[in-house]
Amino acid sequence: MKQSFYDLSYSDLEAVASENDLNPSVPAVLFNWYYKKKESSHCRNNISKSSSVFFDTHFDFSLPEIDTVYESSKDRTVKFLFKLKDQHKVETVLIPFNNKYSICLSSQVGCAMNCSFCFTGEQGLKRNLETHEIIGQFLQAWRWLATNRPGEERILNIVFMGQGEPLHNFDAVKKACDIFLSQHGTSIGTQKITISTAGYIPGLKRWSQEIPGVNLALSLHSPITEKRNELIPLNKKYPLAEVVSYIDRIPLQKKQFITYEYILIKGFNDTSDDAHKLGKMLAGKSAYINLIPFNEFPGSRYTCPDEDIIENFKAVLDTYKIPTLIRGTKGDDVLAACGQLNSNQQIRKQPMSPAEFNP
Ligand code: SAH
Repeated sequence: MKQSFYDLSYSDLEAVASENDLNPSVPAVLFNWYYKKKESSHCRNNISKSSSVFFDTHFDFSLPEIDTVYESSKDRTVKFLFKLKDQHKVETVLIPFNNKYSICLSSQVGCAMNCSFCFTGEQGLKRNLETHEIIGQFLQAWRWLATNRPGEERILNIVFMGQGEPLHNFDAVKKACDIFLSQHGTSIGTQKITISTAGYIPGLKRWSQEIPGVNLALSLHSPITEKRNELIPLNKKYPLAEVVSYIDRIPLQKKQFITYEYILIKGFNDTSDDAHKLGKMLAGKSAYINLIPFNEFPGSRYTCPDEDIIENFKAVLDTYKIPTLIRGTKGDDVLAACGQLNSNQQIRKQPMSPAEFNP
């Protein structure tokens, strides 16, 4: 089977060019064609016939196919269901802000973490995604925008907050980041990419050594051991205190923050006492808190707190002087909000109405 072109970082491509006596300009030409211009046709410009034949012969240029597109009727959120070569499926979400988008990428088919509040966890882990399947979500979503919302093909932020635990598939995610960051191609800034983790310490160690400029978000969800154990079983193996103390020792770049994500679940982790414990744990750190009102999904065991409870939680955190944002829910009518991704769900052509999963 041919290797995917989209598995090659810029330096991999330089190595291919030099090992095969190709013109040294080839890597720059190809990154410009496929990543900067995002062309889908084979590159024939500024490249010799023999080099172009070499790539056509030795590399596979296909990308995951878009199986279904769900467009929110409430906002401009778009959810894609991608079909992979082995028929597995993954989801990707374009989240609108102003006239631009953030893209929420999946890193695995399913997830091994089995978090009790997450729809993806119910699928279990099927397999890791390869780099080209991660890159492919971005390129295909961009092309869909160029065709369907011309002028809006501006994807300025990348978040690894889709299906899977990105630090549990470190090699492929790292290489995808290398490709996104390359100035010869998409040239996305390090501060525009965020990897979200449930607290997988072996992956955190590699992140801090290998791609420290890429932003990190930690899914914290409760500072209390028993509660976090229930929410994130991984906490029993890698307890929060160890995760936070590890993160504290990582030297951050100027203006770099760690984002702490906190899902607010009604009657479970939403009291003033929970907020004070969280505030005490994070006060004084380069921290930024993202409060995520729980998004319900078919069969979910938790519910979302009322607005006044959410506001009160934030007010307590404000007393600790930690910048806190309540994350607005986008795309929930098409199950595209955080934690609602599950590529096993029955595929519906029509978006679900909120009442169907919001009893
Ligand atoms: N495995 C990674 C990334 C995937 S989850 C992680 O755990 O961080 C991305 C974000 O969505 C995480 O903060 C996660 O906790 C949150 N999330 C998952 N299920 C959710 C739900 N039902 N409602 C709201 N947020 C959810």
